[in-house]
Amino acid sequence: MNWIVHIITGYFATSLFLPNAKELFLPIVIFSVVIDVDHWLPFLRVFLKKEKNLLNYYKSAEALEMRSVLHEFPATVAFLVIILLLYQTALHKEILLVAAICVPTHYIVDFLTGHTRPLSPFSRRIFFLNWWKTAKEGIIFEGIVTLALLVLYFVFV
Ligand SMILES: [Zn+2]
Repeated sequence: MNWIVHIITGYFATSLFLPNAKELFLPIVIFSVVIDVDHWLPFLRVFLKKEKNLLNYYKSAEALEMRSVLHEFPATVAFLVIILLLYQTALHKEILLVAAICVPTHYIVDFLTGHTRPLSPFSRRIFFLNWWKTAKEGIIFEGIVTLALLVLYFVFV
């Protein structure tokens, strides 16, 4: 999913646990999108190969190649464990909480809305809820989700 979806879902998830989510907007933005950095190099490769239709590619199962193992369930759990360990010592507990909320939220959103390999690196099995068949339907699906979240955000925040 795109960053608008990740930031708004990260914001809503944080508000469930922390009443001052508004003051934490910057860390919410950072930790809602940070695990997508693994897309950058593979995306550049696809881009340089002059993939004809980037939007179609984006919504195809092949785009899974842009997700590194950092982007799947085992790594998300490992990340949470690291946060919990840091939590005992760190001064910025609130920022750590934002990370502990927004990174798993990003993962859950990707898991529920697109193609993922939940057990990577242990299994390459693909999981997808079949929201769309063609890339075009996928783009429409993503557009609707994004719009719905934007409406919810501007109504409730
Ligand atoms: Zn992602």
